[in-house]
Amino acid sequence: MDVLDKLRILSDAAKYDVSCSSSGSGRKNKKGGIGSASINGICHSWSDDGRCISLLKILMTNYCIYDCAYCVNRSSNDLERATLTPDEIVDLTINFYRRNYIEGLFLSSAIIKSPNHTMELILNVVKRLREVEGFNGYIHTKAIPHADKRIIDEIGLYVDRMSINIELPSENGLKLLAPNKTKKSILTPMGNIRNRIVETREEKKKFKYANSFVPGGQSTQLIVGATEDNDLKILKLSEGLYDGYNLKRVYYSAYVPVAKSPNLPVLDSPPVIRENRLYQADWLLRFYKFKADELLDENMPNFDLSLDPKCNWALRNIGIFPVEINRADYNTLLRVPGIGVKSARRIVAARKFGPLNYDNLKKLNIVLKRAKYFITCNGKYYGMSSMNPEKIRKKLIYGLDRNIFEKQLSLWEMGGFNDKSLHI
Ligand code: SF4
Repeated sequence: MDVLDKLRILSDAAKYDVSCSSSGSGRKNKKGGIGSASINGICHSWSDDGRCISLLKILMTNYCIYDCAYCVNRSSNDLERATLTPDEIVDLTINFYRRNYIEGLFLSSAIIKSPNHTMELILNVVKRLREVEGFNGYIHTKAIPHADKRIIDEIGLYVDRMSINIELPSENGLKLLAPNKTKKSILTPMGNIRNRIVETREEKKKFKYANSFVPGGQSTQLIVGATEDNDLKILKLSEGLYDGYNLKRVYYSAYVPVAKSPNLPVLDSPPVIRENRLYQADWLLRFYKFKADELLDENMPNFDLSLDPKCNWALRNIGIFPVEINRADYNTLLRVPGIGVKSARRIVAARKFGPLNYDNLKKLNIVLKRAKYFITCNGKYYGMSSMNPEKIRKKLIYGLDRNIFEKQLSLWEMGGFNDKSLHI
C-alpha cells in the first residue's frame, strides 16, 4: 500500500477525534474561488495569541487491539486498515510544511501491539521531527491509557499539547463499551501530565533554559450520547477536570453511530444540539464563573435543547432579575443572558461617565434581544408587561430560528457556533 492510500485511510479515521478543535466541514472549492474545507486531513487549532494553525490530522494506525463498541477502529470491525511508519509521518509532515499546507501535526493512534509500543512509535516521530528535522511547528499527540509514565514524560518534552481521551463519562460506561480501559488508566497519566506541567513551569522560573513540558496544556474528549450518562454527570466531570487536572479544554463529541451493539443506543443521527448545549455550558464554567450545580440538578439533569443554558438558568432564577444596568457589578452583569465578557466590560467602563439608558446600550453594541427581559435601565424595564418566566421563555424561543427544533440536524449540517440560536 502506498503512502497516499495510507494517508487517505488514516486521515479519514482521525475525523472522529475532535480534541484538537477541528474540521467537520466538507465545503469544496468553487470555480473562481480559492481554498476548500476538507472533511478530513487538515484541521485547525488556535494558538495562545489567537492565530489559527492548520494541522495535519492523522492516525498513525487504525489497527487496534481493543474492541471499544462505539469506535470505528475496534478490532472486530471489518474495515480497510493501514499503518504509517514514523519515517513516513515525519516525511509527510515536513513535506506538507514546506509546501505551506500545514503549520503543525495532530497525531493520534489506535493501539497497535500494546500501549507502550504505540507510544514508543509516537515518541520516535516527535523526537525525529524536533531533533533531526529541526521542526518547530505545533505538535499535538495522544497519550494512550496504560502506557508507561516514562514514555509519556519523554514525549511531553517534544510536543505542545497532549490529550488523553476519556471518551465515556462514567466507569459504568467504560465497563460496558470499552472494557479494556478503566477510569484509573486514564486519570493516572492525566494527573502525571498535570504534575509535570506544574513542575517544569516552576523550573522555568528558576532556570532560563529548563525544558518545557506540554506547554500548550492537555485536553480530552467526551462522547455524548453513547451511554446513558446525563448532562449533569458530563458537566460535573468537566468541572472536575478543569479544577483538578488543569485541563486546557474538554471537547464534546456527539456520538456518531458507527456500529450496532446491544449496549449502544439506536440513534437516527448524532445528538449535535446536545453537544452544542454542553459546549455553551462549558463556556459558562470557564469564563462566566458558573458551577455545574447551578446549571443543572437532579431534578433537571439534562439541558433544554430549545434554549441555551444561560437563558435557562436565568429563567429558573427569575427572582434575582431584573438587574439594574447602572448598579449591577461586573459578575452580575455577566449572568445576564445576552451580555458577554466584552459587553459587561463596556457597560462598566461607560457608566463611569454617567448613567446609561436603553439607547446608550444600543450605541455600545450591547445585544439586547435577550438581555432586555432581564435588565432595567434607570429603573425602566423594556421586556414585557410582567416578568413571567413562561412568557419570557416563549418569547426567547420564538425569537430563535424555529427550524432548528423541527429536526435533529446531522453532524455536518449544523451551523456550529455561528448558529444564531447558540449565542450565550
Ligand atoms: S482503543 Fe481507541 S482506537 Fe482502539 S477501539 Fe478503543 S477507542 Fe477505538
